[in-house]
Formats: sequence, structure tokens, C-alpha cells
Amino acid sequence: MTDEPSYFLDEQAAFEKVEALRWPDGPVCVHCGAYLQAGRVTGRGARAGLWFCRACKRQFRVTIGTIFEDSHLPLNKWLLACQLVGLEGMRGTKLREHLQIASHAAVRMRRAIRAVLGSEPASSLDEILRRAFEVWV
Ligand SMILES: [Zn+2]
Repeated sequence: MTDEPSYFLDEQAAFEKVEALRWPDGPVCVHCGAYLQAGRVTGRGARAGLWFCRACKRQFRVTIGTIFEDSHLPLNKWLLACQLVGLEGMRGTKLREHLQIASHAAVRMRRAIRAVLGSEPASSLDEILRRAFEVWV
């Protein structure tokens, strides 16, 4: 387990990976479209991956509008699930055991990832994540 990438283990690292893919040139506000006007919300109690836009004064996360939004599961578990389901074809029961989550959560997660994948097999985690940005829920 120790040689797993940090984005499978840590939620902030998971956000940084997804942000680097979706915003290669820096954050873009999902509300007003302002470019490089946002700062990270940090400090005690701040949720991972949260940004504040100085242009429109609203908060956002890179996951807005994707399958990863509105989930109680941390993003690092989602990334691991993408790897296990999308690249290794792991089934629901094993996924639940591996991620140590409730079975209904594992079923929902797997279904969402399968929907993102469609019928084309993906060859890398990055490719799955890019597809997840294109599938707006
Ligand atoms: Zn904004």
C-alpha cells in the first residue's frame, strides 16, 4: 500500500491531480469564468480542494458538475475507484472491501464510473478523469 500514489491516499493530493488536468494553466472560476482570480481556501475546517473567486466572491471546487460532486466519499477514494473499476474491471463487492465503504456507495460509484467510461476502454487514469470532466451530471 505504501507505494500507492498520494492522490489515492490523500484528498488534497487528489484535488491537485484533478486540478492539474482540468486547469493546466491555473484555476478558472466555474461560476463567472474568471481566469487566475481564485485563491485556495485554507485554514482550519476548510474542505479540500476549495477555491474562492475574487471576481464574483463565490467558492467552487474543480469537481463541480462531475460524478465526483455531491458525494460524501473523499476524492482520493473516487480516483482509486476509477483505477480499480476503469482499468482493472473490479466488481462491486471487491470495490466495497477495497475502499472500505458501504455497499450501496460502491454500487453507485461503480455505476457512475461505468457511465463515464461508456463502451470505449480507457488506457490510463488520466484518460478516465478527462472523460469524467466531459460527462456533466
Ligand atoms: Zn468567479
